[in-house]
Amino acid sequence: MPGFELFGAEERKEVNDVLETGILMRYGFDGPRQGIWKAKELEQAITEVFGCKYAQLTSSGTAALTTAMAALGIGAGDEVIMPAFTFVASFEAVLSVGAIPVLVDIDETLTLNPGAVRAAITPQTKCVMPVHMCGSMADLDALKQICDEHRLILLEDACQSIGASYKGRSLATIGDAGTFSFDFVKTITCAEGGVVMTNKEEVYRKSDGYTDHGHDHLGVDRGADLHPFIGYNYRISELHAAVGLAQIRKLGTFLGLQKKNNKALRAYLEQIPEVSFRVVPEGGDDSCSFLSWFLPTEELTKAVVTEMKTQGILAGNFYWFVNNWHYISKWDHLKNAATLSALSDVQREALLRLKETAFPASDAIMSRCISTAISLVWTDEQIREKGEKMVAAIREVLQANK
Ligand SMILES: *Cc1c(COP(=O)(O)O)cnc(C)c1O
Repeated sequence: MPGFELFGAEERKEVNDVLETGILMRYGFDGPRQGIWKAKELEQAITEVFGCKYAQLTSSGTAALTTAMAALGIGAGDEVIMPAFTFVASFEAVLSVGAIPVLVDIDETLTLNPGAVRAAITPQTKCVMPVHMCGSMADLDALKQICDEHRLILLEDACQSIGASYKGRSLATIGDAGTFSFDFVKTITCAEGGVVMTNKEEVYRKSDGYTDHGHDHLGVDRGADLHPFIGYNYRISELHAAVGLAQIRKLGTFLGLQKKNNKALRAYLEQIPEVSFRVVPEGGDDSCSFLSWFLPTEELTKAVVTEMKTQGILAGNFYWFVNNWHYISKWDHLKNAATLSALSDVQREALLRLKETAFPASDAIMSRCISTAISLVWTDEQIREKGEKMVAAIREVLQANK
């Protein structure tokens, strides 16, 4: 998963370019910056590497989602259909623009179940937001068709799946807009950062202004910029962009290692007939940042987690079902509408209703799923040791529960 594992001279060089001029801001100061425009250069690189027309960097992946929603016109009272398995940032962004997160079931892709999306559509639905969790993706053809039929916006939260593709196109470039996060544990990192990608000029132009106080960036200098709409400050700094620039140049290396290590570890787990794997939609190419696998029952999965913990080999393995960050079962703050300032009535009512909403289909999947984070720096020997120990722990539990 994380680009931080291969941080080095390349990142230091790019950051140093910025430190030499002292211009830490991405806009203005044209003279003193001596031609150093790291954020602009990174945006250009993103459009080339991922194949989209426009890229707008932001201060975080959460800010990228918020920006994309604002630029797509999602706001007060609009419903956004999203999965019950994601990171808390996905619903934070929905709430931040005044919209309502409508959480629905996932399937064995670990992402939105298209049938559940269809069933959740109401006259207030404005957007479908698949979250491409753990390196792989939702069935985008099915979701696109639903969006086309119902005239809905498709916004891809691809924050966790940098480098994965669907039918030859990079995730985050297929919907009306898509986002990546470059936070510290993502496939490429800026320390903190994110990006909105789109092929729509208008969505880009709005994202550009929105992330910089609504400044239109058309003035002869910054002071002469006008404000066609109200924005915020979700800017990235040149220092952060510099790190990202070094990282994006190494993305091919990161993905190569991820795929190789994922495949090698998977070969061990494949020896166990009771273990199955996450479904990747046809035409999908997993970024391989995680290896997500299933056991036949919740009881066996919990026993394997306990056994791995006892043996000291649980680190890097995520049992999301009981995880505070990623699954509806533990989002009490969301279900209690625990915000610091008042929500709108419709938002509050929708959140409180989540307390009464059950997700048996998602529970049946998440309770059997373990995701193993794939390191870029594992040696062949470490993978062998890890694989053998995992297989032994799983076999032991299966044997004891025969
Ligand atoms: C990391 C992440 C985000 C938000 O990213 P930040 O940069 O940490 O704000 C959004 N969605 C998902 C699924 C993520 O994993």
